[in-house]
Amino acid sequence: MRISDHALWGVGGTVRSMTSSYPTLSLHVAGHWLTQASGGERVVINPATEEPLARLPLAGPAELAAAAESAQRGFEQWRRVRPHDRYVTLRRAAELLRQRADEIATVLTLEQGKPLAEAKREVTLSADIIDVQAEEAKRLYGRGVAPRVDGILSHTVTRVPVGPVAAFTPWNFPVNLPSRKLGSALAAGCSVVIKPAEETPASCMLLVRCFLDAGVPPDAINMVCGDPAQVSSFLIERPEIAKVSVTGSVAVGKLLGEQAARHVKRFTGELGGHAPVIVAEDMAEGAGLDFVLKQSVTAKYRNAGQVCASPIRFYVPRAQLAVFSERFAAAAQKLQLGSGLDAATQMGPLSHARRIDDMERFVDDAVGQGARLLTGGHRVARPGFFFEPTVFAEAPASTRLMQQEPFGPIAVIQPYDTLDAAIEQANALPYGLGAYAFTRDLHTAHRLGEAIEAGMVGINHFGVSQPELPFGGIRESGIGHEQGPEGITHYTEIKTITVGRP
Ligand code: NAD
Repeated sequence: MRISDHALWGVGGTVRSMTSSYPTLSLHVAGHWLTQASGGERVVINPATEEPLARLPLAGPAELAAAAESAQRGFEQWRRVRPHDRYVTLRRAAELLRQRADEIATVLTLEQGKPLAEAKREVTLSADIIDVQAEEAKRLYGRGVAPRVDGILSHTVTRVPVGPVAAFTPWNFPVNLPSRKLGSALAAGCSVVIKPAEETPASCMLLVRCFLDAGVPPDAINMVCGDPAQVSSFLIERPEIAKVSVTGSVAVGKLLGEQAARHVKRFTGELGGHAPVIVAEDMAEGAGLDFVLKQSVTAKYRNAGQVCASPIRFYVPRAQLAVFSERFAAAAQKLQLGSGLDAATQMGPLSHARRIDDMERFVDDAVGQGARLLTGGHRVARPGFFFEPTVFAEAPASTRLMQQEPFGPIAVIQPYDTLDAAIEQANALPYGLGAYAFTRDLHTAHRLGEAIEAGMVGINHFGVSQPELPFGGIRESGIGHEQGPEGITHYTEIKTITVGRP
C-alpha cells in the first residue's frame, strides 16, 4: 500500500501498525497517554517503503489547553526539586535511554529512514547529552556582589528556571533534538510541552517515556502533535508558556520568533545552515586529498544530507577542481542505498515525499542555470523516498542551490583562486551554522578558524556537535545555543535579590 502525502491527514481509517517493532502512538497530556484526540489523526509512514506504520492522534484546542495548564502545574512541582535530585532523575533517564537503545533505534529507523547504526549512535549520543545537561543542573552558579552603601547585607544574583517551555523539533534527528531541549529545560527546572515532527513522533514518545519512568513528574512533560501552525500559535499565546524553543527551518524560526516576541517571551531558534568547506591547497593533493574526500563524502551523505550542519559548498583550488569533483562524484555513486534496517545500507531514503519534490526543484534550477551535474539528480525508481547522491560543480551564485539549504543529498564543488576569495564566498550567505576547512598548516588553520563566520567551525573534521560543546549558529541560523553549559542558561532568567538591614 502506498500513500500520497496529501492523503496523510484526516479522521478515521483502518491503518494498523505493519510491524510489531513500531509502537501504538499516543500523546502525553496532563499525565495521561492519549491514543485519540480531538484534532483527528494522520498516518505515519515508513519512508523506505511508503507503507503505513501507525495512526497518530492529533491534538485540538482542548488537548493543547490541557497540556499548557498541566505544564504550569508541572513547573510548580519540578522547580522545587533540588538541583541535585533533578540531576539524579535525569541521569536515570539517560540510563533508561541507553538500556532501550536497540528498541528505540529500530523505531527511529522505521519512521525516519536513516541506517540503523546511525540511529543507534543518535540514541546513545542523546543519552550523553542528557547526562551533560544533568550535570549542569548542579552548576547553575549565582554570584554575590559587594554592596556600595552601608545597611545592605547582600546582593545575590541567581539563575532561576524561566517557566513552562513550548518546544518544537524536526524529523531529521527525532531523538537527539528533543533530548537537547528536554535535557536542558528539565535540568534548569522548567517543564516542557514538546511537539515533535508529525513524521517521526514515536522516537520522541519513547524518549518521553524514559524521562517519566525515571521519575520526572508527569505534568512536567507534555507531548503533543497536530497541525504545526495551529499548535505553535496556540501554545505561544498561552499565558502559561514562558519560553519558545524551536529547531527547524529559517522560515519557521522567524515566524515563531515573531510570535514569541509579540508576547515578550524568551526564544531560542536553532535554524538552518548552508555549510561551506574550504580545502586549502596543502590538502588538495595526494594523501591530503584522500583524507578530505573520505571524510567529506561520509559527512555529506550522512542521514541523506538531512543535517543542519551538513557540508554543502566545497571550495577547492581551481587547479584541483577536476580531480576533486571526479573523485567526489565517483565515491558518491558507490554509496549503497537501501532500507536503514539493512546492514549494508550506507544511505537511507529522504524522510518524506516533499523532500523528493524539493530535491528535484534544486536540481532543475541548477541544471537550468548551467551548473555541471556530475552524478545523481534523480529520484530512484523503487518504492520509498530515495534520491540519488548528487554532485554539482561550478554552480552560478544565482542558483537556488548556492543560496538555500538543500537539506538533502546534494553537494556542490566550486573552484577558488585565492584563499581570501574562498573565505569571501564561504561568508557570502546570510547563514552561519556549521563551517569546515582542511589544512595541515597551523597558521592557515587559525586564519580560517577566525575568518569564517559561523557558530561552529571544524578544522580537519566534521564533528562539531558534541554533548559538551555549545551547538548554535549566527545570523539567520539562529539565536542561542543548545548542549554544553551554554544550553542550560537559555532556560533560565537572571534574578537579583538584595537584602538590607531592617
Ligand atoms: P520546519 O521548520 O518545517 O519544522 C520544524 C518544527 O517546527 C516541526 O516540529 C514543525 O512541525 C514545527 N512548526 C511549528 N510551527 C510551524 C509552522 N507554523 N509551520 C511549519 N512548521 C511549524 O523544519 P523541518 O523541515 O522539519 O526541518 C528541517 C530544518 O531544520 C532545516 O532547515 C534544518 O537546517 C533545521 N535544523 C536545524 C538544526 C539546528 O540545530 N540548527 C538542527 C536540525 C535541523
